[in-house]
Amino acid sequence: MPEEHDILILTDIPGCGTAADLEILYPDRLKRLDFRTEKHGVSVLRQYRAVVVQVNHGVNLPKLKFDALDSYARGGGQVICCLFEYAAARGLRLSKTHVCDRMRPGIRIEAECDVTRGFAVGDETWWFGTVSSAPDSLYENQMVQRQLFGVSETGDCRILATSTVNGGAVMVEEQVGKGRIVAMDLLSPGRPYYNSHGSTNKYLFAGNIIGGSVRYGKQYPNRWSYDEFVEQMRQLASRFPQLGIVNDGPCSDGRAMWSFELGDPAKPTVYLGAAVHGWEWENAFGLLRLTELLCESPGIEGLDIRDLHFRIMPIQNPAGYDAFTRQNARGVDLNRNFDLAWEELPVVQDVATPWDYNYKGTRPASEPETQAIQAIIDRHRPICAIDFHTADYIMLMPHRGDDELCGAIQANIQRRLKDRYLAQAPYNGPYQQVNMDRKTEREKMPYLVCYAAECGAAAAFLVEMSGNRDDVHAMVMNTDTVVEICLASVQECLGYLARK
Ligand SMILES: [Zn+2]
Repeated sequence: MPEEHDILILTDIPGCGTAADLEILYPDRLKRLDFRTEKHGVSVLRQYRAVVVQVNHGVNLPKLKFDALDSYARGGGQVICCLFEYAAARGLRLSKTHVCDRMRPGIRIEAECDVTRGFAVGDETWWFGTVSSAPDSLYENQMVQRQLFGVSETGDCRILATSTVNGGAVMVEEQVGKGRIVAMDLLSPGRPYYNSHGSTNKYLFAGNIIGGSVRYGKQYPNRWSYDEFVEQMRQLASRFPQLGIVNDGPCSDGRAMWSFELGDPAKPTVYLGAAVHGWEWENAFGLLRLTELLCESPGIEGLDIRDLHFRIMPIQNPAGYDAFTRQNARGVDLNRNFDLAWEELPVVQDVATPWDYNYKGTRPASEPETQAIQAIIDRHRPICAIDFHTADYIMLMPHRGDDELCGAIQANIQRRLKDRYLAQAPYNGPYQQVNMDRKTEREKMPYLVCYAAECGAAAAFLVEMSGNRDDVHAMVMNTDTVVEICLASVQECLGYLARK
């Protein structure tokens, strides 16, 4: 066995979807073992840091040596086990609940610990799979979720998450000797396809046990309106005297644009923005989370934020954010409206008209949002400017900047995001780890980051994340990755400044 194989999946179908997904999440680290035919005594199990157990067909259950799993756990092993086999081993009742599509099953977090990191007690998120050949022919989209009943919460055993359908246990942690068995329903949720409500977080909790998926991410209860979001910004600023909140002027629907100000204004500026395309909204919460972290732990990762000056505008297009549109209230694609090479940008539609996909406006910086963002860039000449979008995982580097610094930032992001999250790229794209392995380069364009680069930013780049979802179900992953990207950039910028 190659030494790097430290995760075992013990299953009756080694080719199952869970094994395929884990292989994407932990390439070169996963070993598959068929418990029907292969030895899986404790001496075999002991070679791995974690063992994932999945019995796909109940008829195979007698072939699984659960006592070996218990021994492995007693010696300090980490077992992640599906509910059916756990119920059988502990004499619990397994329930497999089907509901119609009028009701989506979710889980409610009942305990905050390393497994549920990113969630608070009371947070809810979807957790289900869809059923083909549903028993109720009137409803094609029936949902299924498994639960356990009869779990007694003793000193060794606690329920980490319960079902929003019937209160049954969906995730249980049992301390066994020096290790533990965490039982969770990994069979009901299908593969986490793009915008899948029931399975987006399927590997998040298991990942927290195996690889530490969540570091800074946080669940948010719903997609606040812009006004609600601004209220949250105000509340954060009122909690931390070092955090300022700035009115940057009216946007195209007349409401004020707001940004955070933090750090020392005499120091080089880092500009961070999101949702310039209003419907690409999740990253705004990532920037809110980042701001909260920078205030709560100003020495986070050994960084001294007073060495920099931050301007953070989570929602750069308030009207588009509220309306779930790409454009602002006047139908302009703001990221085609900046005052750089605007005339040269081809008009792709037959008739250039507001609300066309990339409608660039009537003249350079015609829009109040563009003017407000340009004013910040003109005034502070940021060393670093990041503009967060959602489509796919890719970095877009503009025509100018410091190649070495940009390369160091990308490498830093790659190190941070390795083996943490599994996602499908939008539009039925491939499954992949959430990372920033790909980058693309652009000519001068009327983009925010190109404008910032032209104004002298050493590192100005656009980041495309997975997002644009219709709900908050991917929020922990989204906010976590946004924070990591920002921290990577801050870290490398401070190193760059120190070298200069
Ligand atoms: Zn975009």
